Amino acid sequence: LPKSVGWIGLGLMGLPMAGNLLKKMSNDTQFYIYDVVPDAVKRLVEEGQGRVHACVSSREVTDKSDLVLSMVPEGSHVRAVYLTPEMGVLAGDVGSKVLIDCSTIDTGTSLAVRDACAEQHPRARFYDAPVSGGVLGADKATLTFMLGCAEDDANVSLLKQLLGMMGGNIFCCGGPALGLTAKLCNNYCSAMISIATSEAMNIGMASGMDPRVLANIFHTSTAQSAILDDWCPVPGLCPDAPSSKGYKGGFRIGLMRKDVGLAVDTAERVGVKLALGHEGLRVYDEASKDPKCEGLDSRVVYRYLGGKEN
Ligand code: NAD
Repeated sequence: LPKSVGWIGLGLMGLPMAGNLLKKMSNDTQFYIYDVVPDAVKRLVEEGQGRVHACVSSREVTDKSDLVLSMVPEGSHVRAVYLTPEMGVLAGDVGSKVLIDCSTIDTGTSLAVRDACAEQHPRARFYDAPVSGGVLGADKATLTFMLGCAEDDANVSLLKQLLGMMGGNIFCCGGPALGLTAKLCNNYCSAMISIATSEAMNIGMASGMDPRVLANIFHTSTAQSAILDDWCPVPGLCPDAPSSKGYKGGFRIGLMRKDVGLAVDTAERVGVKLALGHEGLRVYDEASKDPKCEGLDSRVVYRYLGGKEN
């Protein structure tokens, strides 16, 4: 394992993920971290008691670390992190280092960064490794990682050992950007199930059914899903779900809008026909800008659809 780890992007996901590495890696491992918001790095620096060092750029992180991970919101941020002249990762001392991007972004950006890395630093390796499991999974180190490489890639054992400190399930998806493809397919499915569950519950409730009875029927029938079990869009049915806490926490609707958009773009690129995608994208697009839903957990799509909340 590397003796020094670089981490770029310490938001809702990045901070607990890096925190788990800090706890689980040996005490002599040093951490070099950077975020455009200087305050974002403070907590980890304090937690690190001398092992965590704040840097002023992605380049400084790269210069000082044996391996670099990043966790930022969108493709434009990933480009900024890796490709900014003078200050980006690729401007640094990359050599034969392993670079791992965990952000959920478009496959085109990820491949462009990979190509730039291969051209400028032929001995280095860049991997897409997006995650699912949310903030809770990041905190409890139970994330699922979708790795953009083949099972026989030269770095698989290192990647599994390192990412295994942040999550239990690590899948090699076959090749570059296929980790991202898997992640976008998952979120597309989960986004559409949230709409379908909200609509079906609304039909039953508006017809006079008790939502608890209806949800119990779904649980033992073909409408069962992880969304229904753990993330039910209807408030009060899952006490721990964001819907029962005013849709606070969870996965922001703006991020879900981004992921559905990326999945629809991918479908177009690979020539797959969609029955739900464009309409679903319109729903998430409008809901993410609606003042009563903006910034809240994506299952707030139930509220956007006029669902009853008491
Ligand atoms: P976030 O907005 O909370 O955190 C992102 C961090 O990146 C912020 O601190 C921001 O300041 C920093 N950042 C942005 N541009 C930067 C740059 N150029 N250099 C350095 N730092 C920069 O977002 P998040 O919820 O942590 O999500 C990060 C990624 O993880 C997204 O792609 C998201 O889709 C994905 N994801 C999120 C969840 C979730 O539940 N939140 C779950 C799975 C995957």
